[in-house]
Amino acid sequence: MTEKADLQSVLDRAAAGGRITPEEALVLYRDAPLHALGAAADAVRRRTYAGTEHIATYIIERNINYTNVCVTACKFCAFYAAPKDTDKGWTRDLDDILRRCAETVELGGTQIMFQGGHHPDYGVEYYEKHFKAIKDAFPQLVIHSLGASEVEHMARISGVSVEEAITRIHEAGLDSFAGAGAELLPERPRKAIAPLKESGERWLEIMETAHTLGVESTSTMLMGTGETNAERIEHLRMIRDVQDRTGGFRAFIPYTYQPENNHLKGRTQAT
Ligand code: SF4
Repeated sequence: MTEKADLQSVLDRAAAGGRITPEEALVLYRDAPLHALGAAADAVRRRTYAGTEHIATYIIERNINYTNVCVTACKFCAFYAAPKDTDKGWTRDLDDILRRCAETVELGGTQIMFQGGHHPDYGVEYYEKHFKAIKDAFPQLVIHSLGASEVEHMARISGVSVEEAITRIHEAGLDSFAGAGAELLPERPRKAIAPLKESGERWLEIMETAHTLGVESTSTMLMGTGETNAERIEHLRMIRDVQDRTGGFRAFIPYTYQPENNHLKGRTQAT
């Protein structure tokens, strides 16, 4: 058990904007009282949003899945259909997508998240066409969508660089990237649950490229497939290092593994 004074000094440093080591983060994760952690995080939030720190906001957003056809076969995924599985696979046409955008606007929504599988035919041109059509019909909708994995995939399909892919879909209407596909960035758990996805380093490199090109993003973490606490901390460190360089991550969204209907079948990775 770590001494209370030691914990508080690490928390005070973090709250003041200092950096903590992975070892210190692991100690906090294991031993720090929840309220002390919350107070340190709140101190950072109040400093970051000084002047508006008393305001909490929300938006109404709709997630529009454009296809479940995917070549990447992540082991935790209950959504995808392999391209040859024509019984399970589906795609939405543009009219259907625009109808869903219209419903979103009617309900007071301001943002859509366009999310789907890595379809073997969908290159940069597919996303350019759809983002442009959405913005032409609903210029008031923010398109916060896709992530580094989709960029890597569409660039490969179209035979262009990720810089070109990002620039073109941004010009077509994409406002910001969602943090999709981060899953777990460290090599061991990533290979265990998403062996066909790009590496964690590559995911971050593409996000950093997007930030540098003026497209901000969020970031995510999938928890609960058997990763260790140290691997969770390493995931955070990897994201933090990019954030310290670009400041382009607007939010961090951790979410939990749902065990039904996927290859892991509720089993977790061996650790
Ligand atoms: S890339 Fe996305 S849709 Fe495809 S298998 Fe992985 S999580 Fe599922």
